[in-house]
Amino acid sequence: MKIILIKYGELTTKKDNRKVFINILYNNIKKALNNYKVKIIKTRDRMYIETEENIEEVVDILKNIFGIHSIVVATKVNTNIDEIEQNALKIAKEINFSTFKVEITRADKSFPIHSMDFSRKLGALILKNIPNIKVDVHNPEYLMHIEIRKDYSYIYHQEVKASGGYPVGVAGKGLLMLSGGIDSPVAGYLAMKRGIKLECIYFESPPHTSIMAKNKVKKLVEELTKYDSSITLNVVKFTEIQEAIYKNIDPTYMITIMRRMMYRISTKVMENTSCLCLINGESVGQVASQTLTSMSVINNVTNVPVIRPVACLDKLEIIDISRKIGTYETSILPYEDCCTIFLPKHPVINPNLNKAIAYEKSFDYESLIDKAVKEREIIEIKRNNQKFDI
Ligand code: ATP
Ligand code: MG
Repeated sequence: MKIILIKYGELTTKKDNRKVFINILYNNIKKALNNYKVKIIKTRDRMYIETEENIEEVVDILKNIFGIHSIVVATKVNTNIDEIEQNALKIAKEINFSTFKVEITRADKSFPIHSMDFSRKLGALILKNIPNIKVDVHNPEYLMHIEIRKDYSYIYHQEVKASGGYPVGVAGKGLLMLSGGIDSPVAGYLAMKRGIKLECIYFESPPHTSIMAKNKVKKLVEELTKYDSSITLNVVKFTEIQEAIYKNIDPTYMITIMRRMMYRISTKVMENTSCLCLINGESVGQVASQTLTSMSVINNVTNVPVIRPVACLDKLEIIDISRKIGTYETSILPYEDCCTIFLPKHPVINPNLNKAIAYEKSFDYESLIDKAVKEREIIEIKRNNQKFDI
């Protein structure tokens, strides 16, 4: 019988939290595989998944689950010499190779033959039964692993590298400021990799931004559900605030003030949704609002932690990740963002905090912010069950 072995990632080093980590990982795997008939067995040092379903499909889903270091598809047999030998030989016959090596590990020390002796015995059996092959202990084409445990043993040869990281949720929840661009979905992915469960916030400015732009963001969230089965999106109407900025603020400071408003709203939504930090796709120096001076003047409206996972990556590095995680094609669709519709020609590169504060006094933003937070739309997006018209 085929079985999937899951080896844990970094969590093995976190001794005290081990139980919590394993339980969260177990639940994440269960949710990710809820359309499949599987039996998941968790132990201290790995998980076993038994399934009658398409193994490759299941492995493909598991590859995207953080907290899994590697995945092995193994043949499970009873721990008894005869049965191990017969199965090992049968498996070797199905594989094409000219050199091989058998490597045995004995987790069960009561097994009657020592690992070295047993691998020699098994090597000899394979040599005798398959023509034109040789043993090569240094660089074998086919390395057969056999893991001997108390009741069952596992025979396998390929170990697939998975995503690593921490299970999503272990670190608590963070609010991702998600635009339709390339950077913020990547920032969200990297945050999830460190165990942060995402909640997302998107600012729209209808009728200046279209329903297509909003659907694009929903689609991006759906693409991120590959890494966490369900993610909540908060859609905030930003029109009134943006129009007030357009009417009242000096054009060079429009973006600075707009982003300060975004940070204020995000901080309130963060607190309303039990998130512990903000996450965004800012990258140092990328645009005028992302110089260190701009970032400092914008960040000044909040004292919650702001995590910027792509802050020190080049655009090309961000694009690489975005292609790899499957958000790039959606990100480059041409719909307008609320940041671009009122874009001034010459935004300030080194804004001054006191000036920003003085400009903001020209309209009553507090009430507009409270209204935007209160009237936000909350949408839960689940993996694979929605279509978006874009
Ligand atoms: P991205 O590629 O993620 O759109 P960007 O390079 O276009 O980023 P900006 O438009 O300056 O950069 O935005 C910087 C960050 O601010 C974004 O990565 C995102 O986290 C957040 N942000 C910008 N616009 C929005 C929006 N409409 N809704 C939510 N967050 C936004
Ligand atoms: Mg953008």
